[in-house]
This record gives sequence, C-alpha cells and structure tokens, in this order.
Amino acid sequence: MGHSKTIWTNPTEYLSTVQPENPVLFFAPSALKAMARKFIDSFPGMVTYAVKSNPMEEVVQNLSEAGLRGFDVASPFEMQLIRRLCPDAALHYNNPVRSRSEIQVAVGLGVKSYSVDSVSELAKLIEAVPAEGTEITVRFKLPVGGAAYNFGAKFGATTELAVELLKTVAKAGFVPSLTFHPGTQCTEPAAWETYIRTAAEIAEEAGVTIARLNVGGGFPNHRLNAVTPDLDAIFEMIDRVATEAFGDKRPLLVCEPGRGLCGDAFTVATRVKALRDDAHVFLNDGVYGSLTELPMIGVIDRTEVQAPDGQPRTGDPIARIVFGPTCDSVDRLPGELMLPDDLAEGDFLLIHGMGAYSTVTNTRFNGFGELGLELVLDLHA
Ligand SMILES: *Cc1c(COP(=O)(O)O)cnc(C)c1O
Repeated sequence: MGHSKTIWTNPTEYLSTVQPENPVLFFAPSALKAMARKFIDSFPGMVTYAVKSNPMEEVVQNLSEAGLRGFDVASPFEMQLIRRLCPDAALHYNNPVRSRSEIQVAVGLGVKSYSVDSVSELAKLIEAVPAEGTEITVRFKLPVGGAAYNFGAKFGATTELAVELLKTVAKAGFVPSLTFHPGTQCTEPAAWETYIRTAAEIAEEAGVTIARLNVGGGFPNHRLNAVTPDLDAIFEMIDRVATEAFGDKRPLLVCEPGRGLCGDAFTVATRVKALRDDAHVFLNDGVYGSLTELPMIGVIDRTEVQAPDGQPRTGDPIARIVFGPTCDSVDRLPGELMLPDDLAEGDFLLIHGMGAYSTVTNTRFNGFGELGLELVLDLHA
C-alpha cells in the first residue's frame, strides 16, 4: 500500500487531480476519532478495538489519541503491533484457540486477559499462564440470528459447557468473566439482549460472580442508505438489560467493536475499466481486493459515481452487474448495483463505509490489488 503525507480536502480533489489507475482507500482520521469518542462517551463500560478489522498503524494511533486504552488481539503479530504503538494499553487475547508458543508470547508481553471456549484450551492456559491477577473470559454462543454473518459457527461454548468452564476458571484462581460475540453488523439492539440474560444465568448456575462481561463486537457501520445504525439504542439496551439480568452482581462491561469503530472512516474509490457492450461494469477492484466482504455480508449502497473531472454522475439509477479486475468468475459483486445510466468508462465509483475487513483482506491475486491510501479531511465533497 502506498502511503503519502499530503492531506487532501476530500476524495474528489484527489481523484480529479491525480487520476489514479489503481483503487484508492481514503481515510478521514477526524471521522475515526469522532466515532471513538462516541463509543467512549456513550458505551456503559470499557471500549476496546478489535485490531483484526483494520490493523493499519494510522488507525491504531488515531484510536489511541482519541483515548482508547484496550485492544482485542488474536495473534502474536497483533499483540506486538499494539505493544509497539501503545505500550500501556490493555491487551485482550480473545482468540480462543492458541498454540503453546503463542501463549508464551502473550505471557511474555504481559497479557492479562484471555478468552476460552473449550476444556482442552483452558487446560493449556492453566498450565502456562500465572493465575494471579489474570482474567479468563469464557466465550459462549447461542443459536440466535440477527447478524449479517454468524460468528457462532466457529467459536463459543454451549451454555452447559460455559457453566463448567467458568467453575474451573474460578477454581484455578483466575479472575472469572464471560464473553460472547453476537455476530457482525448487528443493526438490531435485540441481538445483545438474549446473550446478556443468558450470561447472568450461566454465572448463577456456576455459582460464580463474574468480574466483567465482554459484549463483543458486532456494532454496525453505515452500509445501507435506508438503515442508519443507532448506536445509542444499542448502548441503552445493553445497559438496561445488564442491570435487569445481574442486579447487584452487575459486572463491569467491555465491548470490542471492529467494524463499528473503523468502518465509516474510510471510502474506497474504484475506477470503471470498461463498460462492456454497455452492459457489464468492470472495476479495478473486486472481491480479491478491498471488496472481499461484500459477497459474504451484502453490498453497500452508499455509493457515488464521479466523472474523471470530479463532476457527479446524476443519471437515473439502473441495475448493473459489476465485476472485479481478475480473470476469476467468482470476482463479481453480489446481485446487481444500482448505478447512474450516464456511467462511463474512466469514471470513479466511490463506496463509503469501507474501513473494516478491506485493507487487511486485499490480495495480489492476478497481479491486481495495488491499493493506494490517502488521507482526507472529509470523505464527502
Ligand atoms: C472479529 C471480532 C470482533 C470484531 O467484530 P466486529 O463485527 O468487526 O465488531 C470482536 N471480537 C472478536 C472476538 C472477534 O473475533
């Protein structure tokens, strides 16, 4: 990824001046900091950042400058990254499966919080991690919907197993806590409710007072014009239900948003390489590039089309099939995109809300994937 120090006013200024041949991600640090402050001021507990959603150093640094003090990390690389950039931040090692050497790295870096969802992985932690002052967070799952993507398919203990794990954690002298991940891009506050009530039941049944409840990530970013995420409604639900469910044993709350924090701080600009026989649109970015996630969780309709001179295309929207640049037929955006009927070769298609799971999953397949990065004051003209 090419980095540059110039800060442009907005994407249009850059695109009309530079006429980039490769896709460009525009990052507005001001938007990221504003979202971080929103979470810190309104979430009823500690806010941590799920580093995997976008591990760019500029992102981590801006979050740290905005006051974030904790990070959800999943690998030695992520732990070392955060230790280097924010030496005093708390590391929550919440990948429930780890090799023994990965655990050693975490212990060496002073990690004090680990999640777990199985007996065998808990045994490894008990063996290798000093219990004193260290939190083990039992991750459970429920068969509930409401998210764009089901996280329970890979991780999370059943509630019965969670009861047993929590007892073992407490008995081994660790600080006992619970966690869940409701799925990603949850626009419905109700996605958290059953999980929080179940957490209280698990703690009750285990006879363990938990220190903290980590309510996961899953907070939505703005992907569809018709659905504006309402973070306040989600925070209020979490706060109210935590009190109702736990009463005077209410644990401290933690959240670990990825997408919700970084998603809306980035816009990608892709270029129309071809409008083949006035039907199919071919872009210079696709599902092997920054648009990897769209086939899994659905298209983003917060788009704009600009002519090379920066003028917006305002024709009537028509449905188009859109392909990425590689020769693989999988490289197609899901469904059809509504694009202005005056769209032309050489135009730029801007897709907003592209900060999460975009830079980090971009590949060089077929020789494409040269993704630029530019800083802007504002993502909109
Ligand atoms: C991926 C992940 C997150 C972040 O999820 P978002 O949907 O991006 O908020 C949080 N916690 C864990 C354990 C994760 O694996």
